[in-house]
Amino acid sequence: MNLLNKSANHQPSVLEKIAGHEQVVFCNDPVSGLQAIIAIHNTTLGPALGGTRMAPYASMDEALDDVLRLSKGMTYKCAAADVDFGGGKAVIIGDPAKDKSPELFRAFGQFVDSLGGRFYTGTDMGTTMDDFVHAMRETTRIVGTPESFGGSGDSSIPTAAGVINGLRATIETLYGSDDLSRATYAVQGLGKVGYKVAEQLLDAGARLYVSDISEQSLKDITLKAERSPGTVQVVAPHEIHLTDADIFVPCAFGGVINDTTIGTLRCKAICGSANNQLQRDELAHTLREKEILFAPDYIVNGGGLIQVADELYGANPERVLLKTRHIYDAVLEVFREAHADSITTLEAANRMCDKRIANRGARNSFFTNTIKPKWNIRNH
Ligand code: NAD
Repeated sequence: MNLLNKSANHQPSVLEKIAGHEQVVFCNDPVSGLQAIIAIHNTTLGPALGGTRMAPYASMDEALDDVLRLSKGMTYKCAAADVDFGGGKAVIIGDPAKDKSPELFRAFGQFVDSLGGRFYTGTDMGTTMDDFVHAMRETTRIVGTPESFGGSGDSSIPTAAGVINGLRATIETLYGSDDLSRATYAVQGLGKVGYKVAEQLLDAGARLYVSDISEQSLKDITLKAERSPGTVQVVAPHEIHLTDADIFVPCAFGGVINDTTIGTLRCKAICGSANNQLQRDELAHTLREKEILFAPDYIVNGGGLIQVADELYGANPERVLLKTRHIYDAVLEVFREAHADSITTLEAANRMCDKRIANRGARNSFFTNTIKPKWNIRNH
């Protein structure tokens, strides 16, 4: 019997929805009230890795769609970052402001543990380390923890280092030299990542436009510029994408390249940390037509993921920073391939990841991956 046969006009069943995934686990614990879904998309490169989101989803279908989409994205992100992990994600159905309890997260930890190392997780939207302290009493498969818990701590440091590497690859492609001072930049958002990126650009002697809704961040970066070889000019938040800067560096929020903004862009390239910068993937074609180089965000912002994956070898910030150099190589490769084959940089990035997974898959079965000794280093 084939449960995946489709008749005309029917709503996809759960089995049809999860057909592209290896394993999807529905978790139900009546004692704590936990209702969660863990989705393991692909473990060809290694055990699934992805954060756990908590949100008041309106329905189980909405939660399932979200976790399936996000876990697939993690497979690509891991392949792009060249880490030995596959894609996974979990969602807990509930209001983070009202529905949390230690018991709920202990129950969640038990479900994670029951997967025997096929899924590693940590915080995401709606969850914090205070929640995962409870999950950690039930499982060792929690990553991205603070230093006090043996983890690697603040991920914005390697994320910013990754953005700088992405920018170097972008400048190299535009000007044939990776000297950061050669270009001007418009940095949107001076938060944990954007501020560190702006600092490093100023230290390199670059000219920056910056915007943020936080007056304090703008004051801080202006003071920093006074002590640096670079210069900074503050612009209003709604004008940051309109400047004459060579490179737009989105580090605030997603969807910043949309039907309204795309026609107004004057930059030569876009390279920043914000997740899902394109409101829709098709906008990559418009950017290509406008000859704006788009460094795919899921490659550029992979520094935090590289750090979390590196925890398996014991926390070592210096090694992590060296590994973010991989982002430079990946962005260069994507730009070259996109140019050579007249495709968008997003298509080139996805193709690069598919190829990496296929090459590894030719050698591995996903069950042998999870028992490799290195994934047990911090667990015994
Ligand atoms: P953050 O919250 O520390 O910083 C965001 C900054 O954007 C804040 O300073 C905020 O005031 C500013 N901002 C908000 N609205 C704005 C507006 N309209 N115009 C200009 N600035 C505005 O977040 P972060 O950790 O620095 O992350 C930034 C982006 O990078 C997010 O999209 C995040 O998902 C992504 N990212 C972060 C990491 C990480 O390690 N922190 C990793 C991968 C991706």
